Order: sequence, then C-alpha cells, then structure tokens
Amino acid sequence: MTTTQTSVKRRAARCRYDRARHCFLVQSSAGTGDYELTARGFDGLLVVSCTCPAGIRGRQVPAGATKCRHGALVARRLARAGLVRLVAGSWVVTAKALRLTLSAA
Ligand SMILES: [Zn+2]
Repeated sequence: MTTTQTSVKRRAARCRYDRARHCFLVQSSAGTGDYELTARGFDGLLVVSCTCPAGIRGRQVPAGATKCRHGALVARRLARAGLVRLVAGSWVVTAKALRLTLSAA
C-alpha cells in the first residue's frame, strides 16, 4: 500500500468487502480492530448485522433503522453498486441484487 497519509485525521470509517469471509469489514473507531458486517435481504429490505456493541443490540433490523452507523456505510456502498436504494427511509433490495443472490445461492 502506498496511500499517502495526510496530517488531517479523517474520522469517516471505511468499509471494505472481505471476499473470503463474505462479509464487510469496518475499522472500529478506537482502531482496535475491525467490525464484521453481513448484509442480506429480508422481505425486500436490506438487513445488516454488525459485530460492534451497538450493532449487536440492534441485530437483524432493517438497515434503515440500524442501531449503529456502520450499517449505513455498507448500505451506501451497496447503493453505489446499484444493489439497494433508499425508499422512504428504508434500504430496499433492488432487482439486480435479487438476481445476484439467486445466482449465488
Ligand atoms: Zn456497527
């Protein structure tokens, strides 16, 4: 990695996808490690579970109502890929995502 470090500390957490573990990883704000997030569709809504303390309390709720901010990072990333879209405050799984899910199952 040759990423240039700037003097300004960015507080925005980054999320990345771990292909081997089939989950998203978001670095904890304390820098002590990564939280694991999994995303799946349930009744047409995106459901994100997160291993951070707040995420464990709010486990298995639609990402529009996730108890932690990491779920929103994953949702926005999926939205950029066209897999979910925000409808009336809830992340709705798109037809593209359903096709991918079915072909991966
Ligand atoms: Zn979290």
